[in-house]
Amino acid sequence: MKHKIITLLSILTLFTTFSILSSQKDIDAHAERTYQIGTDVTFPPFEFANNQNKYVGIDMHLMKAIAKDQGFNVKIKPLGFNAAVQALESNQIDGVIAGMSITPERQAKFDFSHPYFKSGVVMATKPGRNIKNLKDLRGQKVAVKTGTAGADYANGLKNRYGFKIVTFDDSNNMYEDVLTGNSAACFEDSPVMKYAIKQGTNLAIVTKPALSGSYGFAVDHGKNKALLTAFNKGLNDLKKNGKYDDIVNKYLGTKDHPVKAQTNSSSRTFLGLLKQNRGALFSGLMETLWLTVVSIFFATIFGIIIGLLGVVPSKFSTGFSTTMIYIFRGLPLLVLALFIYTGIPSLTGTKIPAFVAGVITLTFNEGAYIAAFVKGGILAVDSGQMEASRSLGLPFGKSMRKIILPQGIRIMIPSFINQFIITLKDTSILSIIGLLELTQTGKIIIARNLEGFKVWTIIALIYLIIITLLTWLSNWVQRRTNL
Ligand code: GLN
Repeated sequence: MKHKIITLLSILTLFTTFSILSSQKDIDAHAERTYQIGTDVTFPPFEFANNQNKYVGIDMHLMKAIAKDQGFNVKIKPLGFNAAVQALESNQIDGVIAGMSITPERQAKFDFSHPYFKSGVVMATKPGRNIKNLKDLRGQKVAVKTGTAGADYANGLKNRYGFKIVTFDDSNNMYEDVLTGNSAACFEDSPVMKYAIKQGTNLAIVTKPALSGSYGFAVDHGKNKALLTAFNKGLNDLKKNGKYDDIVNKYLGTKDHPVKAQTNSSSRTFLGLLKQNRGALFSGLMETLWLTVVSIFFATIFGIIIGLLGVVPSKFSTGFSTTMIYIFRGLPLLVLALFIYTGIPSLTGTKIPAFVAGVITLTFNEGAYIAAFVKGGILAVDSGQMEASRSLGLPFGKSMRKIILPQGIRIMIPSFINQFIITLKDTSILSIIGLLELTQTGKIIIARNLEGFKVWTIIALIYLIIITLLTWLSNWVQRRTNL
């Protein structure tokens, strides 16, 4: 049995190391030509997932057409606006195209392309709410989107007009807050708000556009000069050969050919939603499972090592073990993920792929919990056992292996199973770094169809089914191994 487990573990180590390395190689192989471009999860008509969960919109088409024109490849990463800007700042991605306004503050950190679309910020409210201008906002809440020019604008006005700000990560959550009546109004870019209203969002624009400016494609200050030059050249070409106008007209329509609202009633039922999104849900689920398996594997090794270090008779190693457990159990998972994905690279300048950052995060966090119960499990074995074994002349290592561990492991097993389930659930937090796992997939689908209740129900059920299967599997393994 022991041999089988060891062989299984070795195969798994080889397999995961190989797959991480090869995914890394994939990135390196195309390093000269494939640029990672961050974008918003949803900012129609500039970027949004269509019915097949493909990213479309003015920005997406422009970026692809420019890449084609200039002979480079792009990999689009729908991270969310704020996350994309931060990922760019820490050099995790090469550029951002996300209806990003060119502002003086941003120009200090980023280099912008030539402007490609004019925009401004408007205030929208629910019809009938009797809010007509900024003065009517006194004592009310206003919804804004994290890190946007609209949010800065609202922050600058809140004291003068006496309103409170509520912040959301996505445009659709922001609209939703106004629609449910929690917030009295929201600030959004005028072309985006107009488009949403045309598509059926029940809001009305009540102010003239403020902060007029333009959108630009951004790279990190002083970096990716070739990409920026190529973007500008490509944009120029597209403007000259009429493709720019074609792209914009496709989404915004012309006077003679206005765009129609895209409604699709068949995809509003549970089954319709499931059927329409099955591909995206399945690949999200696979990413979740893969992330869980790889992380559990490394977290278990890390946890066992740190846990064992906590019980060997050496002040240094017990101190080290306690400190590791203290730090990684003490840090919120979200903070750790952001620290590893955006914090470290902005210090060192080296990219960490999101998947690897996710695995490292979970390894440390879940590993710290595992270490704590491994240590606890061993300490829970009556100390007389060790004393008896030592007085029989067995050395520390052997007493540990033959006497203490077999008893300790039995105590630890339920905690292991519990931790595996927690790891699976915790992968959802990694949606923050743009991993396209199940939760992020859900966010993207909802951003498109605003069916929050139904889509989250589907996602919740998928998690529950997987957790049930995982529990059955663990129980079965536990019975088979007679532990
Ligand atoms: N244009 C706004 C900005 O740059 C909003 C962009 C967005 O939400 N994607 O801040």
